[in-house]
Amino acid sequence: NAGLGSWPARRAAMSPGVTALIFGERRTTYAELYERTSRLAAALRAAGVGPGDRVAYLGPNHPSFVETMFATWMLGAIFVPLNFRLTPPEVDYQLRHSGAVALISAGEVQTEVGLHVRLADLEGFLASEPAEIEEPAGLDDVACILYTSGTTGHPKGAMLTHGNIIWNCYNLLVCVDVASDEITLVSAPLFHVAALNQCLLPTFLKGGTSVIMPGWDVDGCFDAIAEHRITWMFGVSQMFAGLSRSPRWPDADLTSVRSLMTGGAPVPEALIRAYQERGLAFCQGYGMTETAPGATFLEARESRAHIGSAGLPVFFAEVRVTRPDLTPVDPGEPGEVLVRGPNVTPGYWNDPAATAAALTDDGWFHSGDLAVVDEAGHHRIVDRTKDMYISGGENVYPAEVEAAVFEHPAVAEVAVVGVPDEKWGEVGRAFVVPVSGASLTPADVPEFLSGRLARYKIPVYVDVVDDLPRTGSNKVRKGPLRDLPLPTPA
Ligand code: AMP
Ligand code: MG
Repeated sequence: NAGLGSWPARRAAMSPGVTALIFGERRTTYAELYERTSRLAAALRAAGVGPGDRVAYLGPNHPSFVETMFATWMLGAIFVPLNFRLTPPEVDYQLRHSGAVALISAGEVQTEVGLHVRLADLEGFLASEPAEIEEPAGLDDVACILYTSGTTGHPKGAMLTHGNIIWNCYNLLVCVDVASDEITLVSAPLFHVAALNQCLLPTFLKGGTSVIMPGWDVDGCFDAIAEHRITWMFGVSQMFAGLSRSPRWPDADLTSVRSLMTGGAPVPEALIRAYQERGLAFCQGYGMTETAPGATFLEARESRAHIGSAGLPVFFAEVRVTRPDLTPVDPGEPGEVLVRGPNVTPGYWNDPAATAAALTDDGWFHSGDLAVVDEAGHHRIVDRTKDMYISGGENVYPAEVEAAVFEHPAVAEVAVVGVPDEKWGEVGRAFVVPVSGASLTPADVPEFLSGRLARYKIPVYVDVVDDLPRTGSNKVRKGPLRDLPLPTPA
């Protein structure tokens, strides 16, 4: 029983009185967390949840997320955290695809899931007695299914085993000195692999304290750092850029911060310099959901010497940068990043075709990202081969957006690309060709998509055009579309 479900009991035995979670005024010790988690596990078990079943959670950051997750793992069941920014049809797809038997949600959800508990009713749902629960989950059992969109239009459920997540914790601890007195700010959404596996779980393993923010906001972040004397946090570059552009930045007291980590999206060098000028240790990580997520890390002590680099392969994984024929590139030559190791997903839930496309027979995961490696073995992420862009840290797959736009009766053809954006890093730009004779304005497109697609996926720019540039084989050439000057937002 080496799985993650044993962690609350182990921590409660080792550091019962230490504060595990802070959320607003609410503080939970490791002993309390273990007690509440076992009462929730007992209630879920009484309602029929057993090993291998899928338990979904839908809601903004909250201690109940952590309790539901550990309760699920105590039962040997699989945790499915959903993105609360998704629209009802998108949520419905993921609940059905994962075959969830239980759902804990913050808000109202139309669902046929057998057991649906709203957060407001959770206290009443908890069993009165914490049951002894010993459902062994092994390291190779699936712990989580994390949905990521895909190039085929439908989201894919990346499976992470207990072992994947634990090895990622070790990889992080080798790079960042997370300590037993760590006070970690969990500022990114917990349904994302980075907040969960890079912040909350390594802090939990060490017996530190996680301060959970309900959502991202710049002032809230400055306040939390000052009030709780935060020692470390992870954020995507838009979050760190928001802090450094704030009027509070020059006077903010950041003396408690020992290190910061960013990743999950390209990191502008100017941003790194702004933090270094304040004497802050800023490490960059590169990774993805499927590698739980760390693939390469730049340690803080190296960050001055290698500005812009995403660093070296994590301690327990192999990373190769290859040509399309899978031979290794020479220094300076861009190639695709492949990752193999104990942190790498066994594949996508109920999707053998996607699994086979992503993983080679000998266990190499194709990232779809392009990197160059320098003489010192440092990785710089330069581009992507997959048709994807990242808006405020959320991946957007044009294929999914195009499929949704195409459902508009007046749309004959559509192509979506990511374009640079000051605030979000990238945003979507859609080129639509109307059905001949039909009337279609740029504003029709976002209006049509609202309610069908999460807001971050809805293109900010829309161009109604006569045709799309195509290759000889009739595929849309997205390069020229990306390079066109931007119109005013729709
Ligand atoms: P996700 O699965 O949502 O974590 O997204 C993973 C993707 O984010 C990767 O495949 C990359 O395209 C991108 N990414 C992650 N870290 C970095 C980084 N440090 N620099 C550039 N892109 C990154
Ligand atoms: Mg991402």
